[in-house]
Amino acid sequence: MYSPDDCLMISGLQHFRFCRRQWALIHIEQQWAENLRTVEGTLLHERAHNEQLRESRGDLLIVRGLRVQSLTLGLTGQCDVVEFRRDDTRGVTLCGKEGAWLPYPVEYKHGAAKQDGSDALQLCAQAMCLEEMLVCEIPSGALFYGETRRRFPVSFTQELREEVRQDAAQMHNLYRRGHTPHVRPTKSCNACSLKELCLPRLQKSGSVQEYLRESMEETP
Ligand code: SF4
Repeated sequence: MYSPDDCLMISGLQHFRFCRRQWALIHIEQQWAENLRTVEGTLLHERAHNEQLRESRGDLLIVRGLRVQSLTLGLTGQCDVVEFRRDDTRGVTLCGKEGAWLPYPVEYKHGAAKQDGSDALQLCAQAMCLEEMLVCEIPSGALFYGETRRRFPVSFTQELREEVRQDAAQMHNLYRRGHTPHVRPTKSCNACSLKELCLPRLQKSGSVQEYLRESMEETP
């Protein structure tokens, strides 16, 4: 079990899948840069989070911007949307609502579906946090893509859950050691928001902070 202070961001699972060095630069070294893709993503998320926080429509309760956490995984984050659907057999009771409600997380993404499966991984991590907080089982959720404006259902299989557990454990391992993996240029570097900071030409460099410190020490 992790303490709340040790929890890492669920959104980091995507960075970790994209490139472990990128994840370390953002989450260990606190470096950040924005490119068009990240700005578009932020705008879409702000829309999902800023509209009315709660909405009730018959057997559907919609909650936006719900904060979630799992001390077992050591992960924390915010769900864009959680739909609570009335379900008297598998649902959980909610304060101030009659009956039982099954959570169904929905994550908003700009652009199209990624090939690396990281969107489903992030959504599954949200579901696992909700399960731990609400003591229930959540079989599925959905991803909504801004480019196609369509929803895609995602089943939270045992394999997907195991990937979440393994990636979270590896992230914690790097975080504990404060280790930034070395540069390994791939075609992903072209779309990387940190390519200028990452210093990909200096392939032997590890930490950006270390590189900057060494450069300053060398300056007469
Ligand atoms: S530029 Fe390439 S190696 Fe560096 S963080 Fe981005 S994806 Fe990773």
